[in-house]
Amino acid sequence: MTALAAANLGFRVHVLTPEAGAPATQVTDHTTIAAYDDAAAVDAFAAAIDVATFEFENVPAATAERLAAKVPVHPSARCLEIAQDRGKEKTFLNANGAPTAPYARIASPAELACALDEIGRPAVLKTATLGYDGKGQVMIGPDTDPAEAYLAMGADVGILEGFVDFACEVSVVLARDAKGNTRAFDVVENRHAHHILDVTLAPAGVSPEIADEAQRIAARIANALGLIGLLAVEMFVCKDGRVLVNEIAPRPHNSGHWTMDACITSQFEQFVRAVAGLPLADPSRHSDATMKNLIGDEVNRYDALSADPGARLHIYGKGAPRPGRKMGHVNWLFPKGSGPKAP
Ligand code: AMP
Repeated sequence: MTALAAANLGFRVHVLTPEAGAPATQVTDHTTIAAYDDAAAVDAFAAAIDVATFEFENVPAATAERLAAKVPVHPSARCLEIAQDRGKEKTFLNANGAPTAPYARIASPAELACALDEIGRPAVLKTATLGYDGKGQVMIGPDTDPAEAYLAMGADVGILEGFVDFACEVSVVLARDAKGNTRAFDVVENRHAHHILDVTLAPAGVSPEIADEAQRIAARIANALGLIGLLAVEMFVCKDGRVLVNEIAPRPHNSGHWTMDACITSQFEQFVRAVAGLPLADPSRHSDATMKNLIGDEVNRYDALSADPGARLHIYGKGAPRPGRKMGHVNWLFPKGSGPKAP
């Protein structure tokens, strides 16, 4: 989707990926298939491009650093490094005035038991790195044995978080350019199924004060990161009105996919503009929207969805559906102000 937006602006896109046939390679004419730590391939890639970016955060920060020695890389390797480790991320957020749930870094069952005494139950244990969409996440209830929870996490180092009894989950996707200008998309509500984003409702049904607070927090984080590109900030809106940051992603985000059809400029075009040094465009929402992810077998609703005249389909070209695999999404639009309808 980034490559398509870049092509619309007249850019040629060169994709570096370890995966032959990856979705982006299907819509670009230059591809390097290589492991991210293949230094020769990364150097040849750098020699072929003018600017580099990434659109998922499991690209090793070392690869971004290697590229950055030769070409501009936006966002920076430092942004990637912070977003890759929940511990670094939480420390950074709290140091920069972005509140989170109480948390502790743990590296053994004994440390987990100690942290549980401090933070209390219920709590959520998450792997410090390489966890997303609920992978490596363990819910800790009143009777959960810390040793079992530690084993179930499946990693050595984890982050224990206090469970947030939230009213709703929202996110902000925001662009920041090299001059420090920021433009945010409207705040949206996200509903998850099995820890995976299922539906995004745009705009979120929160008060203007909470929406402003969410956008202020997102801008504060982007500025503190010195980010050039796109930042998604996922947040919990607590029942008492507090807004806590859950996690950040320095890239286009699933909860911004509704912008493809409901905004003057999509998150992908805005991302390309920020990275390529063009002025940021107008992110205004012209319609309310509901985005539904097509996860695993849900992509088999293709025939019915393609016959729905109001459904804007986006299929990723990922091959076989597997449980939990995001295969595509669909956007439905509604007149602005009428409110998005749950699918
Ligand atoms: P994550 O992988 O951190 O984005 O978590 C996936 C989902 O799990 C979130 O969107 C929430 O629905 C839920 N979740 C994660 N952490 C917490 C928490 N500390 N309290 C309550 N729910 C959580």
